Amino acid sequence: MEHDQGSLLDEKALAQAATDPAARVEALRREIEHNSYLYYALDAPVLSDAAFDSLMRELRELEAAHPELIDPSSPTQRVGGYVGEQFAPVRHAQRMYSLDNAMDLDELDAWMQRVVDDFGHFPPMDCELKIDGSSIALTYEDGVLTRAATRGDGTTGEDVTANMRTVKDVPLRLRPEALGAVVDPTRPLELRGEVYLSKASFERLNLAAEANGKAPFANPRNAAAGSLRQKDPTITRGRELSTFMYAIAEDDALRVPGQAELLAWLREAGFHVNPDVALCESAEEVRAFCERALEQRESLPYEIDGVVVKVNAFAQQQALGFTARAPRWAIAFKFPPEEKTTLLRDITVQVGRTGALTPVAELAPVVVAGSTVARATLHNLDEVHRKDVRVGDTVVVRKAGDVIPEVLGPVLSLRPDDAAPWSMPDVCPSCGSPVIREEGEVAFRCISIDCPAQAQERLLHWASRGALDIDGMGEEIVSRLVEVGRLTDVADYYSLDEAELSLLDMGRVNKEGAPIRLGATIAAKLVAAIEASRTRPFARVLFGLGIRHVGKTIAEALAGAFPSIDALAAATEEELAAVEGIGPKIARSVYVFLRVPENVAVIDRLRRAGVTLADEATGEERPQTLAGLTFVLTGSLSGMTRDEAGAALKALGAKVAGSVSKKTSYVVAGEAAGSKYDKAVALGVPVLDEAQLARILETGEPPAPEE
Ligand code: NAD
Repeated sequence: MEHDQGSLLDEKALAQAATDPAARVEALRREIEHNSYLYYALDAPVLSDAAFDSLMRELRELEAAHPELIDPSSPTQRVGGYVGEQFAPVRHAQRMYSLDNAMDLDELDAWMQRVVDDFGHFPPMDCELKIDGSSIALTYEDGVLTRAATRGDGTTGEDVTANMRTVKDVPLRLRPEALGAVVDPTRPLELRGEVYLSKASFERLNLAAEANGKAPFANPRNAAAGSLRQKDPTITRGRELSTFMYAIAEDDALRVPGQAELLAWLREAGFHVNPDVALCESAEEVRAFCERALEQRESLPYEIDGVVVKVNAFAQQQALGFTARAPRWAIAFKFPPEEKTTLLRDITVQVGRTGALTPVAELAPVVVAGSTVARATLHNLDEVHRKDVRVGDTVVVRKAGDVIPEVLGPVLSLRPDDAAPWSMPDVCPSCGSPVIREEGEVAFRCISIDCPAQAQERLLHWASRGALDIDGMGEEIVSRLVEVGRLTDVADYYSLDEAELSLLDMGRVNKEGAPIRLGATIAAKLVAAIEASRTRPFARVLFGLGIRHVGKTIAEALAGAFPSIDALAAATEEELAAVEGIGPKIARSVYVFLRVPENVAVIDRLRRAGVTLADEATGEERPQTLAGLTFVLTGSLSGMTRDEAGAALKALGAKVAGSVSKKTSYVVAGEAAGSKYDKAVALGVPVLDEAQLARILETGEPPAPEE
């Protein structure tokens, strides 16, 4: 089974369904029927379309794998719809069909290939946007609108004539110029299309619903269907419905040979026809249309959920015919869904650097919005309970664009009987120490100082880019060093030697079965990186220590006010809280951290290892010769990083800003300086090069005016 074709389950999950496929099929049918009712009859779905489609797809796959379970009353065999009692039923002279779906370009290609195989060549295909609205059939007799009907179940729809008459773009009379193409003017002419609500009208409608204390509509499509099925046509009139027409019930009723020509005729007859159409001569052109539509989607004033590709010539359409629910001559290419359903296999717990325990959803891998999702954070226990997700649940997973995947919630009716509510473990999964929850906190924590999971996260944090930046010290090496007992706390980095590192057993074997070792080259690089980390500015060390609530900015503020670890350790809680940007919570956290004996011991060992625990200025505080001046740094410097240059300027009393304004005193431009340089020139702000900066830092004097 291929995940990237929008399938719900991977092999393992399918195997689970296979233990009792009949029960799963039955549960899926019930769930789909219930949701179809909410969607079509009440216009109030609770599932997203993508999640609904995902369940439908699972059902279709199970029925394909177990043909003995196929049933003519299964939702897979029917046109989805509903005929309400408040409207007179209308029997369609010709059935109104649904469309088969291609969930991605590969499925679209496969469908086009089947058509090519049938005809022996690529027949011209008409591509149209798939408007996310509600199907409508309009009947004209002697050129006059006499009836409008919904699709209903495909055979019988609802008479919504009075309502459709209020829709402004529906011609009540066909333009006489177009009547010449009608084969038999005495026969009723049934034309079909989509009623929809623009995004703007949908928003207005929901705002009004909210103001009146009514439930909002889930999406424009349901809002359109709901507006169309109002008892009182004056309500429909106020809803700003629009139409796009695209079909005819009997294609021999007009003297036109195909779909593209039909669209032209509809336009001529006075209908609103979507302008985004293309008659394609090859599969590449069809694919390109689909890709372009996906790009346009957001910017269109109405919702589309795909592209409909139709074999253009009516004669060829007739040759291909229909299945029970859809034409064989057309396919709906659906945009990649941003939501899918999948199986929640397990909820595991991750221990972070500060000991916080985070529940993580372990999912049967599923492709959502183009990428595979197998894990998603559940944040904390409250969140797990609020969403009521349980191991064994079929859950809805969302991933929109670059956004982090999220578990939205379970599909309750598919929950196995034995699925129990999840609870946080009592002990840390890493070290077995008891887990506590501090008052007023959502997070559960392991507070053991010896917890290896926390140790590993702390060690990785120390080596990370914004902290001590030990290049190459990644998760695999750190976890090996923790496992073999060579790294316990951050001071241990400075006792690692090259020979020892090069022999580090990576816990894997090569083809000959010999253990793989780290090797001399990497060891040498790591030792050099560790060496370089000793001279990182004090603020980075402070950040690297991983004190709770002390991020990069707070670390800089603290180092600015207390330029050494000793000064910081000597400060009272009140003094700490007096620093701008530091509240009592942070002050307390720093104060307590520096009094935990184990932490004091680590700091002492760092001091002995020569790690920077004080900014240069400490002891003999440098005169604040640059006070009142504002610098902006841009481009890359060769002798130091911009952060280091900024810290050195601040040590002399200067302010360092991120953007250039009239108030900027100097812009220091390194290599490849960009827009800030241009802005400085435009505003007449003096620009300094790296040599001039070096001189300022050395002498502590601002540049002479002629510079
Ligand atoms: P469909 O909407 O996917 O496709 C068929 C319809 O597309 C046609 O009937 C027609 O009305 C429309 N269409 C729009 N533009 C068209 C064009 N240019 N040419 C031809 N047709 C065009 O299929 P469906 O059977 O109408 O409905 C299934 C949809 O309803 C699915 O997307 C499903 O997710 C949704 N649904 C959702 C729930 C839920 O609980 N969320 C429940 C039931 C159904």
